[in-house]
Amino acid sequence: MPGNQHYKILIADDLEDNLGLLREWLSSKEYYVRCARGGRELLELARRDPPDLILVDKIMPEVDGLSVARELKKEDRFSAVPIIVLTGRDDTRRNAILDDTPADDLITKPFVFEDVDTRVRTMLKKREVFRELERTNEELRRTNEKMAQLIQVDEKTGLTNYRSFMEKLRDEFKRARRYNNHLTLVMLDIDHFKLVNDRYGHLAGDQVLKDFGAIMTRSARETDICSRYGGEEFAILLPQTSAVHGQRLAERIRRATQTHQFSGAGTLAPIQITACAGVATTPMNPLIETPEHLIQAADAALYRAKEAGRNRTVVDPRSTAYVEYVSGPRRCGCPS
Ligand code: GH3
Ligand code: MG
Ligand code: MG
Repeated sequence: MPGNQHYKILIADDLEDNLGLLREWLSSKEYYVRCARGGRELLELARRDPPDLILVDKIMPEVDGLSVARELKKEDRFSAVPIIVLTGRDDTRRNAILDDTPADDLITKPFVFEDVDTRVRTMLKKREVFRELERTNEELRRTNEKMAQLIQVDEKTGLTNYRSFMEKLRDEFKRARRYNNHLTLVMLDIDHFKLVNDRYGHLAGDQVLKDFGAIMTRSARETDICSRYGGEEFAILLPQTSAVHGQRLAERIRRATQTHQFSGAGTLAPIQITACAGVATTPMNPLIETPEHLIQAADAALYRAKEAGRNRTVVDPRSTAYVEYVSGPRRCGCPS
């Protein structure tokens, strides 16, 4: 029977005669057959190279066939490998085998080869169905993984989206509280972004948002969580980081933004923008008791940066012992 060579069958029987008969019969059908003389050897061979079907004698010294079936079915990679138990025709408990063990079928001895043939083929078909199911499950797992990633990412910028940012903020807030670590939040907002849309169009605006996101990611550490909070507002969550270090990052982004020539999706002239940032930290500020308070404090600082003339970073005064809260072009010597 051509086409059977790719099926690997593993047989175990302590009686050489039975083993020989089955091996000869199955090999004549061109299955790829391996033999074990006991349960222990079968376990070893199966684990080394998982077969498509196992035929195992019920009664063998040391490790018997039923124990082998139980042992193998505990392992994920064998859950879809059918096991046929070989037992004597006079075995009065043979019907209980299928109830009490995870065996898939029985073959009675002495062998009737038409019966062996039918059962082996049926079990190999079952194996094919299992294999198909495994493939479908694997595809499903990959699709789910992709979906999970998609629902966490902002399409326009590739950054963490609002929903995922809020989840991470809640987690990091709890962690910071539990271990008494600093957690800093930097909220950023592009200045007069409406003008970018008005002057260069919405598509150019989208490209600017994307490039601004890239500046943020380049400036931050890998452990920092860069996200698009909404519209032209962004947020960076900095675990185990003080407000001073948060402001340093915010300043790096502000300066990089100010000097960057944004291409704006094919616009002829480069687009120039500036941005503001507000920084707040827990647990430095005792008034910040919830993740929402942290956002409010960073937002209030951001508002003050706008009020102070834009292109600035402002730290929530209660979040730091650092005396100079406002940083902007005048402080670093850049033109405003
Ligand atoms: P301010 O300096 O006070 O922040 O001024 P602003 O113009 O940046 O702020 P405002 O809140 O008045 O306007 C935000 C603009 O951002 C208006 C809105 O159309 C635009 N915007 C929000 N989301 C997107 C987007 O996904 N793509 C584009 N191109 N524009 C967006
Ligand atoms: Mg804005
Ligand atoms: Mg805004």
